[in-house]
Amino acid sequence: MTEVVVLGAGYAGLKTVRDLQKQSGDFHITLIDRNSYHYEATELHEIASGTHQPDKITFPIVDAIDTKKVTFLQDKVEKVDCDAKTIQLEKTGNMSYDYLVISLGFRSEGFGIPGVVENALQMVDVDSANQVHEHVLSMMKKYRETKDANLLKLVICGAGFTGIELAGAFADERSAYAEIAGVKPEEISITCVEAMDSILPMFDRDMANYAMDVIQKRNITLMLGAKIKEIQDGKVVYTKGDDEAPNFVEAGTIVWTTGVSGSQVMEESGFEQRRGRVVVQSDLRHPHYETVYVIGDVSAFMNPESNRPYPTTAQIATQMGKHTAKNLAHQLRGEATEDFIYNEQGTVASIGNTHGLGKVGKMSLKGYPASVMKKVIVDKSLVDMGGLKELLAKGRFDFYH
Ligand code: NAD
Repeated sequence: MTEVVVLGAGYAGLKTVRDLQKQSGDFHITLIDRNSYHYEATELHEIASGTHQPDKITFPIVDAIDTKKVTFLQDKVEKVDCDAKTIQLEKTGNMSYDYLVISLGFRSEGFGIPGVVENALQMVDVDSANQVHEHVLSMMKKYRETKDANLLKLVICGAGFTGIELAGAFADERSAYAEIAGVKPEEISITCVEAMDSILPMFDRDMANYAMDVIQKRNITLMLGAKIKEIQDGKVVYTKGDDEAPNFVEAGTIVWTTGVSGSQVMEESGFEQRRGRVVVQSDLRHPHYETVYVIGDVSAFMNPESNRPYPTTAQIATQMGKHTAKNLAHQLRGEATEDFIYNEQGTVASIGNTHGLGKVGKMSLKGYPASVMKKVIVDKSLVDMGGLKELLAKGRFDFYH
């Protein structure tokens, strides 16, 4: 029987499997992931802040697949050899495939800045997000004993969407942190350190100004034009403009959110790649291998208008998964593949539970309506990834605050 192997059960991989398993044919699917659960990566900031418990954004992978057609294997992918058509797994050893979907997701990008790995917390998966929350709580408890004001400071490195969403979630939990530390909420400081002179370059000035206004009103400090050069123990070292003189900000909690790259496996496997992303063909296949698809955060799909790859998002990953299932079904029937056309529906980001901003189609959304839209998008994703059962169990229905 033809063997289709899918690596990674994130947005791209799980969507591929869920769509392909509906197709009839003489093939079997193996889905491999290091975790037994899928997680909604767009909501990790809510775990890091403690707004939600991890089970709110996770569900068992086996609940989302048809186990008559799909075998789930919990193992860590170490390397892929597309010439030999094999995958190297940590526990299982080598495994062969006929068709392969590489959808191994992202990791944090440190840009080789010294001290990032040692001295900053990451927020790349459920465990690391949970560690951020536990760390914040431990800092608040420690403050009670030491009265060291730095322990009340939370610094986020990078003010992209991830950094801003995390800052908003931290602001939501300010009172809870203050109670543990035994201080007033305003004594908990939240700062984003950002290299650029403005934020959210993908939005117009009006929208970016709106975001800055909300950030300010929520008592979040935005340090713009501050290029981080090093992370020391409890200290973020940065420079401003052309001035090379180092400045620093101290904090008990430092979280690194300056961007992402594709899985380490891409590099380990010797693929031609940049920041863990392989430039794919128009049908999402690897340029050299007819039966290998590279999708999600490990994939660079060119935007024909800008001639640059589209940014990696959950939205494009899910659409790539859907398209890959379609193309695999074509190939399994001996038919030609179709080109992928990305249908960008917009972007919405939260700044805490009841604030947000974004653009959907031609519509600009600000404030509460944007936060509702973000919840609708999360709910749609839960249906895509897990079905109605997961929507009912984990969905966001707190639209009316
Ligand atoms: P990003 O690359 O979008 O933002 C990282 C930020 O860090 C940038 O503003 C950058 O200037 C800054 N930075 C980088 N190096 C720095 C340094 N040395 N010092 C100071 N600042 C530095 O990364 P992200 O926010 O992790 O997002 C990754 C992808 O996921 C993006 O495509 C984003 O659009 C997407 N995303 C989308 C949503 C949403 O739609 N709601 C939420 C989160 C992430």
